[in-house]
Amino acid sequence: MKNGKLIVISGASGVGKGTVLSLMMQKRDDLFFSVSATTRAPRPGEVDGKHYFFISKECFEEMIKNNEFLEYDAHAANYYGTLRGQAEAKQKKGHVLLDIEPKGAAQVRKSAPDAILIFIMPPSIEELERRLRGRGDTSEDQIAMRMERAIWEMEQRTWYDYVVVNYDAQRCADEILSIISKLED
Ligand code: 5GP
Repeated sequence: MKNGKLIVISGASGVGKGTVLSLMMQKRDDLFFSVSATTRAPRPGEVDGKHYFFISKECFEEMIKNNEFLEYDAHAANYYGTLRGQAEAKQKKGHVLLDIEPKGAAQVRKSAPDAILIFIMPPSIEELERRLRGRGDTSEDQIAMRMERAIWEMEQRTWYDYVVVNYDAQRCADEILSIISKLED
């Protein structure tokens, strides 16, 4: 059987990537989420091994030395990385969904040129800010920092293969699923 593809999904924090990815996985059982490793602390409700593998900075740096990451990046004072072994194992079963930011996406494009890069945009900047505020767990300083980062991330969409606007999570998920189906034809 042919290996599945790496499908990178990027988009600013608050754009609704998590919901879109779950809706996609509900519709196809051959899509697998790549669980990243991170040094950031878990948020309430996050489960180790499901949302992320939460590891120490020392452990992360040791894994970098051992070439265990397909890509990694340090942002917001933490490391985030895609586990090479896990991604390869999941590719044997189907397509692998990578929820990673643009610097990581650029590394994936380099090391896996047949990866598909998809960028999710919010309907507007105002809507993104409203969604960020709606989460209720972010201070004004954090909102300002996230908005600045979001604007930089959105500028990177020009070199992605596809840009999809998240007006509605189900529609957005269906649009990405149809991109994937077309690529399989
Ligand atoms: P959060 O801390 O809100 O979960 O994630 C912050 C950002 O890190 C998101 O944009 C997410 O896409 C990105 N991210 C999560 N995992 C990885 C990873 O393994 N590699 C890279 N480069 N970025 C990641």
